[in-house]
Amino acid sequence: MAITLGQRSLARLDGVHPDLLRVVKRAAAMADARDDFTVLDGTVRTREQAWANWGKGRTAAQCAAKGVPIGYAKPGEAKVTWLANPLSSKHVPKADGFSHAVDLAPFPIDWTDLARFDRLAALMIAAAKAEKVAIRWGADWDRDGKPRERGETDSPHFELES
Ligand SMILES: [Zn+2]
Repeated sequence: MAITLGQRSLARLDGVHPDLLRVVKRAAAMADARDDFTVLDGTVRTREQAWANWGKGRTAAQCAAKGVPIGYAKPGEAKVTWLANPLSSKHVPKADGFSHAVDLAPFPIDWTDLARFDRLAALMIAAAKAEKVAIRWGADWDRDGKPRERGETDSPHFELES
């Protein structure tokens, strides 16, 4: 039992809300070796990183309409976020100074192995329950236990409910 989070994962958790941090650490403590996981780059985002994400797949006019500097518009790239407000991502530190979201992936990473993402989510949900923290998973937004039923694609994403 228990996996050890690597130095890179720990560094990427810097700036994550303490409640969510407890959940990730509890999940690592509950995991066995076949459920090893890693923290993805960009778990804590600056405003500029959020703008850069939002600008992908959008025009200068769309950016300007949302207060995103038009230099971030990359209409030729694939869209990566559907947020109405570019800065509402919970990866961008909130008023309390902390990011309220983390992106995790099973390690070694295989983006096509969704069953492993589902196992990681089950682990995170159990850890959140043990820590009495309310979280939401990016592949089951309404938390009815049916992943991707509405085309949710954010399997690595976990965030604090509030
Ligand atoms: Zn995320």
